[in-house]
Amino acid sequence: MAIDFTKASFKDFENVPGADAWVRADLFNDYLKYLAHKGHLNYRLVSTTGCSPEMEIIVNKKENPRSYVSFVSNDYLGFTQHPKIKKAVIEGIQQYGSGAGASPAIGGQFSYHEKLEKKIAAFFKRDSAIIYTTGYTANSATLMSLLQKEDIAIVDMAVHASVYEGCLLTNQKVFLHNRMDILERFLKESQYKYRTKMVIVDGVYSQDGDMAPLDKILELCRHYGAYMCVDDAHGVGVIGETGRGAMEKYGTMQEVDLITGTFSKTFANVGGYVIADPNLINFLKYQSRQHLFSANSTPAAMGILRAIDLLDEEPHWKDKLWDNINYFKSGLTNLGLDIGTTESAIIPVKIGDAAITGEAGRLLLKAGIYTNPIIYPAVSKKNARIRMSVMATHTRDQLDKALNAFEYADQKLHISKNIGSNL
Ligand code: PMP
Repeated sequence: MAIDFTKASFKDFENVPGADAWVRADLFNDYLKYLAHKGHLNYRLVSTTGCSPEMEIIVNKKENPRSYVSFVSNDYLGFTQHPKIKKAVIEGIQQYGSGAGASPAIGGQFSYHEKLEKKIAAFFKRDSAIIYTTGYTANSATLMSLLQKEDIAIVDMAVHASVYEGCLLTNQKVFLHNRMDILERFLKESQYKYRTKMVIVDGVYSQDGDMAPLDKILELCRHYGAYMCVDDAHGVGVIGETGRGAMEKYGTMQEVDLITGTFSKTFANVGGYVIADPNLINFLKYQSRQHLFSANSTPAAMGILRAIDLLDEEPHWKDKLWDNINYFKSGLTNLGLDIGTTESAIIPVKIGDAAITGEAGRLLLKAGIYTNPIIYPAVSKKNARIRMSVMATHTRDQLDKALNAFEYADQKLHISKNIGSNL
């Protein structure tokens, strides 16, 4: 039962042979203490202020909260602090109260839910949508109710955990990230074997910030008779001429069979959605268990209605975001750091080794910069990185402060020299 903490990751505690759940929890707590002792446990840090480019957080429980420049929020356009959105949330609560009181099927469906379903479908120029209380369940519950043991999901290896969970009841083939040749092979092999064949990809991938070639994937799906599902949680608001995301960029918005997404990032709230043809959406409204048996979203969701409008009314936020993305990316590249192939507001600084990444996270915090060190199993074992989300509301001063902090971390850890050695 001994686990070498110097080489361990959270994954090693999912199932420990011979250890019952409580023993496993004790062991895991020892591991957390080990990480905390090294100063590498910067997860679940508590913030005492809102989501913003500058956040007060408690790093040391014995000290008062301190202010940090933050890159941890996927609030890409800064809408969580937008006065018009806050006003809409408050009005929603004043009009309807604080909660929905029941699941949609049995009394928890209000006019703001109906409006939201119509509005998010219209946003993608489509007819029908179902909303969920998280983006996670939009994926997991939908896929679980559509794909069973006679069916198959063919997924890019970098899709979100919620997609993997949605595929637990079905057959699954996982292709190497963005490798169209392998996707085609899997489609060919599956052609006459399964009932429903579904290819599932992200628009923008959450750890590398790169995109799927949606036009090529759609072509392959059509050729081999498979449905196509795109989760564009990180593309909406950021990518495309009008911020409709990766599908707008690749001209596939009308064709994709299942569009999934979240209200927790650009739309500055919480919740998820699925867009598809009306019959499929109606089926999900009655068959998707987490929708059917779980309370509906709160009237604070009225803020989402306003956020969807603001995307079109105030396009300058997206322009400002891209100014910041381009400035920050070139600053990091000039320092010799490896930011991979990102095409979005997600910026990874690839380091490779998990322990060095943990140490980089600690040094950045010390320099006043709050980022997320990402290690296995969120990414593969040799692909640890510092992950950052850029916001429209970051100032040049804040971005410069972060660049200086990376220069300092690089002097200590020589992370720029690691380029290519750990890919
Ligand atoms: N899909 C992707 C690609 C994500 O990154 C996430 C979460 N960050 C989700 C789905 C889940 O969204 P939510 O936070 O709304 O549950």
